[in-house]
Amino acid sequence: MRVAMIGTGYVGLVSGTCFADFGHVVTCIDKDAGKIDALNTGKIPIFEPGLQDLVAKNVAEERLFFTTKTEEAVRDADAVFIAVGTPTRRGDGHADLSYVYAAAEEIAGLIDGFTVIVTKSTVPVGTGDEVEAIIRRTNPDAKFAVVSNPEFLREGAAINDFKRPDRVVVGTDSEEAVGVMKELYRPLYLNETPIIVTKRRTSELIKYAANAFLAVKITFINEIADLCEKVGANVQEVSRGIGLDNRIGSKFLHAGPGYGGSCFPKDTLALSRIAADAHCDLKIVDSVIEVNAARKKKMADKVIDFMGGDVSGKTVALLGLAFKPNTDDMREAPSIDIVEKLQAAGAKIRAYDPASMEEAGHVMSNVLFCDGPYHAIENADVVVIVTEWDQFRALDLERVKSLLNAPKVVDLRNIYTQDYMTAHGFEYTSVGRSY
Ligand code: NAD
Repeated sequence: MRVAMIGTGYVGLVSGTCFADFGHVVTCIDKDAGKIDALNTGKIPIFEPGLQDLVAKNVAEERLFFTTKTEEAVRDADAVFIAVGTPTRRGDGHADLSYVYAAAEEIAGLIDGFTVIVTKSTVPVGTGDEVEAIIRRTNPDAKFAVVSNPEFLREGAAINDFKRPDRVVVGTDSEEAVGVMKELYRPLYLNETPIIVTKRRTSELIKYAANAFLAVKITFINEIADLCEKVGANVQEVSRGIGLDNRIGSKFLHAGPGYGGSCFPKDTLALSRIAADAHCDLKIVDSVIEVNAARKKKMADKVIDFMGGDVSGKTVALLGLAFKPNTDDMREAPSIDIVEKLQAAGAKIRAYDPASMEEAGHVMSNVLFCDGPYHAIENADVVVIVTEWDQFRALDLERVKSLLNAPKVVDLRNIYTQDYMTAHGFEYTSVGRSY
């Protein structure tokens, strides 16, 4: 099949590359000429493990192309995916659909023969109806179906998630479009990946409900972590104790500094707005948004308390800045709140992240970005572990101690234990663990 992928960001680039690897001929389109130029010279504009090799392989085998020009790719396509951003709209928390609608306008006049228009972006309920109306208005004779096919991949594990998903969701009433979607996902279909075919509105809601549920799980265990600290319990043991119950499940029960990233914050907010527009209270989701935002700010207080209530003039070394390991994505990362609040309290910040320092440079200022974890730690008064990159899990603690002004560690990801750190001579605190 021939695929046009509009938007070559995290989702578009990974999806397009994986579809090419499934054997389809894919053209990835982006307005950002710099991105397309980079891709055409073999450079990958994002950090995503395994992506460089997979792109190179499919380009070499002439199944994957990159362009800024929409026309030809869309005219030839059996399926046109819209994978553009849907960020939070300034001021009101709704999803900003201007990029999706602009893409629909661009595609509309170019459709040639039966074409499936697939919304891969995360979009509010009813967006598919509007995309259909835009295309119909511009090109009344076009033969097309608009399908919702939300994406569930995680940055950092995106290729595996795309190729081995728990399920594929397809929202449409068109039998013909279902046929095209099944052909596109054929390798998964043969592997017995469940393909859920629903109405379009249900499919659109599934994506938001999934992300909101995961955000609820994280926020729930974070609140339990706070309680653990007050009552002498250990949140990791609580997580294990509840997670082994199949009805609960062990994933997304790691206490930490609050969720961030390009999806959970904006999608919970958008879901809350969708519900408000429908005059339906989603009290749990609203609470989660509020609790998580407060938590990210509270993490700096944890550091300040640990330092005796004052960090003025102190140097804080942050290990990890990205919202999670194996990505360079800094969108809504907890590190942003932590840095702002520590700086406001008078601290100087040194930081190291294996992938996100360039991005971090756009969203934080007066931070000394360092060459490695040990460089960041040099002459600092405390180390704060913010992102659990593997390379921070086995630091040479003797070296850490020798480089620090005082052996103090705040571990916001619980990657070390109290006993281990005490045995190595550190003053140590973590999240939700009284022992
Ligand atoms: P992104 O910001 O990384 O990429 C979007 C790309 O679209 C940009 O490169 C931009 O230049 C391009 N673009 C915008 N308008 C265009 C147009 N008219 N023509 C061509 N290109 C255009 O976004 P992303 O993280 O890939 O997210 C895309 C969508 O997928 C969002 O709705 C997001 O919520 C959803 N999603 C993201 C993830 C994730 O982990 N990032 C996971 C699942 C779903």
